[in-house]
Amino acid sequence: MIQRIRGTNDVLGDDAQAFAMLEATAKRIVERAGYSRIETPAFEATELFARGVGASTDIVQKEMYTIPEDGITLRPEGTAPVCRAYLEHGMHKLPQPVKLWYLSSFFRRERPQKGRYRQFWQIGAEVIGPPSAGSESPLRDAEVIEMLATLLNELGIEGWKLEINSVGSAGDRARYVAALREALAPVKHQMCEDNQRRAETNPLRVLDSKDPNDQEIINNLPKIADFLDAESTENFRQVLAALDACGVPYTVNPRLVRGLDYYTRTTFEFTHGGLGAQNALLGGGRYDGLSEALGGPKTPGIGFAMGEDRLILTLEAETAKQASLADAYVAPMGEGLNAPALELARELRRSGLRVELGDGSFRLKKSFEMGHKLARKIVLLGEDEQQSGILTVKDFASGEQVKVPRAELASRLKSI
Ligand code: AMP
Repeated sequence: MIQRIRGTNDVLGDDAQAFAMLEATAKRIVERAGYSRIETPAFEATELFARGVGASTDIVQKEMYTIPEDGITLRPEGTAPVCRAYLEHGMHKLPQPVKLWYLSSFFRRERPQKGRYRQFWQIGAEVIGPPSAGSESPLRDAEVIEMLATLLNELGIEGWKLEINSVGSAGDRARYVAALREALAPVKHQMCEDNQRRAETNPLRVLDSKDPNDQEIINNLPKIADFLDAESTENFRQVLAALDACGVPYTVNPRLVRGLDYYTRTTFEFTHGGLGAQNALLGGGRYDGLSEALGGPKTPGIGFAMGEDRLILTLEAETAKQASLADAYVAPMGEGLNAPALELARELRRSGLRVELGDGSFRLKKSFEMGHKLARKIVLLGEDEQQSGILTVKDFASGEQVKVPRAELASRLKSI
């Protein structure tokens, strides 16, 4: 019997429903931010990807499905095709910057494993426009990233992490690459074969390596932040300040780089622990030089691509985690409250709720940590609550904290 090709998936049943939900949610969020839909062809001229993704990348060197005699390749990613479409259709005549989003499948000849397929789906978006339209502004970067944080939150994906970095201008990067080459020269022979090759062809790619034996060498390599000029440093500061202002948490990861000349300044990645080895939910960044690499005028852009298959794996992990959680964690605030807390837990359990009980010897921080691991909500029982009969309840998923009279507690825990 003929079966599907390894590394491809049929989308059916629960997955088909999850796909529909993801599409509807993504559409709602990106349309609110002014994006319109674009669909580009499933195959393009091979040269588009050689120029637009970069001849020295793993994608172009090893992973493309190409028909050489026709000079065509199944699309491995969406940014170069969208940029091509912007130039080809003269979209510079539209109000700028142009904001486009897509939901399409892509093709890479990778080693299949959980979360890594040979045909996979991405939700992506690009903001492209001339510098005069403010397309280079750090505000754009923060706007795109904030929208992604909102999207993940609205999808109910908890526990994502945002890593961010700046790779500076083309000039900054050239100086950095020279320093990397110099630092790698005496040590590269100790590294794995892939990294030895990368050290020659594209030293920035060494920083992406997950090879455990090479980590110590990599951690001691020069950091890009030390090579940014004043303008790039200030630009990065403004991106981070805008994220701070809208409360999006992030970690600066100096190893997050894109190995191509037209990738500039901000790069970012959202990861999720529930995904295992392939932990990247989405990746994005600025590509101020891409249009020129494709033969167009200077047209800076920023965008991202989010793996839809990985979003679904994350949602499944979240659902499994939620199902294993108790309804509430009762946390006595002091050992004198242990007995009343046991009484409260008994009362709630009798009403049918699944309840975990803490211990009054725990500090508040520990109670919250334990509660978060074991239950969806925490009920704080301190002296005040004991006397007033009004309890403090916090929902870990929404972060919402409310005061609830004891008589209503069981029904509120069931409903909120
Ligand atoms: P990239 O274009 O490599 O930056 O990938 C962007 C996002 O697409 C990643 O963060 C993943 O979520 C997803 N992705 C990339 N490659 C694959 C693949 N082979 N299978 C499934 N998802 C992928």
